[in-house]
Amino acid sequence: MWLDGCQPTQSLRSKTKIEKDFSGKLEDCGMWSFDGSSTEQAPGGSSDCLLKPVYIIPDPQRKNAYLVMCEVLNADGTPHETNGRAHIDDDDNDFWFGFEQEYFLWDPSTSKPLGFPANGYPRPQGPYYCSVGAYNAFGREIVEEHLDACLEAGLNVEGINAEVAAGQWEFQIFAKGAKEAGDQIWLGRYLLERIGEKYGVAINWHCKPLGNLDWNGSGMHANFSNTLLRTGGSKEIFDKVCEAFRPVVKEHIEVYGADNHLRLTGKHETASIHDFSYGVSDRGASIRIPVNVPKWGWKGYLEDRRPNSAADPYKVAARIIKTVKSVQA
Ligand code: ADP
Ligand code: MN
Ligand code: MN
Ligand code: MN
Ligand code: MN
Repeated sequence: MWLDGCQPTQSLRSKTKIEKDFSGKLEDCGMWSFDGSSTEQAPGGSSDCLLKPVYIIPDPQRKNAYLVMCEVLNADGTPHETNGRAHIDDDDNDFWFGFEQEYFLWDPSTSKPLGFPANGYPRPQGPYYCSVGAYNAFGREIVEEHLDACLEAGLNVEGINAEVAAGQWEFQIFAKGAKEAGDQIWLGRYLLERIGEKYGVAINWHCKPLGNLDWNGSGMHANFSNTLLRTGGSKEIFDKVCEAFRPVVKEHIEVYGADNHLRLTGKHETASIHDFSYGVSDRGASIRIPVNVPKWGWKGYLEDRRPNSAADPYKVAARIIKTVKSVQA
């Protein structure tokens, strides 16, 4: 698996290599290469890009196989400019991330979410979130199969739920460090895409696939903490960390996913892309302080609600580390 060079949203690509007597260990994965002219990463005249294996998990859906996340390098071995993972300046494992990955299960033949009738719309939002039953929950067999596959692969999924719009779902993955969190989200996305193929169902990662209608968009809320937040003990520390985000709104929005202005409207549990706000239990804020943080004596984590479903978790996590590290209490 690697990320292509398509802009503004990079996608997963993959190919398969057969090895004899492979140990299953990352250090025994050799470098490989691919045709970068077919992925918007190189001109045709010198098309080879290199694949550097960086993360390996068992492939739960193939016999005796592994999934290997790779970074893309130029032919001379330097990181390709589209290689967000290599551009993580400070991968501090004291930073813990819990990403809430939302997405739509999408019927490629009608270009609508599962659960949408051929003509018109299903009942308005309300009954779908965390629903059960065939009136409201669409595509559960895919979602459940994905959860099992992630767990079998050793991805640290923490939960799944049906979301607010019909055909919209979420999985959460927790990991320590920007690289690990990004690797796990990308591999979780890969497994979901591949399971969807079996059912003829696409995964729509766009943050506002139903346009300007009364349907929620998709986010990838970034929950994060470091020792400062986990042990802090005062409201002042949380305010200080949140305030550190205020002067760098632009830098954050730049890596929080394409078309986010369509989603961050101030409606549908979002804050406007033009504002910056934070508050306890506030799902209309840019950053939410979870309700338990004051209860735990101002210890815990924060939730940046702005990253969208198609954002690159490597870039999101790297940017959050940078901003939080600018505060030292
Ligand atoms: P929501 O109420 O926003 O839907 P979820 O339960 O979907 O919340 O997701 C909360 C996320 O917060 C989980 O992915 C979890 O791993 C993450 N999380 C919990 N504690 C921490 C922490 N200390 N640091 C970072 N992330 C955390
Ligand atoms: Mn060939
Ligand atoms: Mn959630
Ligand atoms: Mn959600
Ligand atoms: Mn959330």
